[in-house]
Amino acid sequence: MRLLLVEDDDHVAAALSAVLARHGFQVVHARNGEEALRALLPAEKEPFSVVLLDLGLPDQDGYEVCGKIRKRSAIPVIMVTARADVRSRIHGLNLGADDYVVKPYDTGELLARIHAVARRRPPGEDTGPTPLAALRLGPVRIELPTRRVSVDDHEVQLTRKEFDLLALLAQRPGVVFRREQIISEVWRTSWEGTGRTLEVHVASLRSKLRLPALIETVRGVGYRLVPPSA
Ligand code: CA
Repeated sequence: MRLLLVEDDDHVAAALSAVLARHGFQVVHARNGEEALRALLPAEKEPFSVVLLDLGLPDQDGYEVCGKIRKRSAIPVIMVTARADVRSRIHGLNLGADDYVVKPYDTGELLARIHAVARRRPPGEDTGPTPLAALRLGPVRIELPTRRVSVDDHEVQLTRKEFDLLALLAQRPGVVFRREQIISEVWRTSWEGTGRTLEVHVASLRSKLRLPALIETVRGVGYRLVPPSA
């Protein structure tokens, strides 16, 4: 069983990897959130059966990493943290973690929990290659798991909402998305008060990507993404 261990403390990771290896796990170690997300990109290899995710990471919050993993994959995630309070646990579980283990933990208990979550979802069931991991539209490349966007191989910095908006439209190029639909999917809120926000984000995307024709306004309806001609 392949296990992704996300842990920035090398000593902890080494000790845990040794224990896990003794119990038959093939452990891949990621030292930060970015490495973790990269390791989960579709590959030729056998998919991971479970992710052990430390919440205190140097580059991004473990909760954030969990949310990003969950957006693209149903792989079981066990959060490992020193934060024992109930609110932290609830927050983690709300973000889609399958289980939550508080440090210091008993190794036997951790192993039991790993087996329990891995059993719940047979390996490969939804951890296989995610076809939408990266989208390419002419010069625009959108990497969904890492939320990176580049145009002609130059990375473009987008805000969270700008990315969500672009990713939404890009998943169905040419299809018109109604304004209400975009607002509910990107802002997770109702129509009221956000109409202008949407305009602003569209304008900002057009200018940041330097492709003013990429997102077309469909008057009175919404927007659609027009793939740049190859
Ligand atoms: Ca840590």
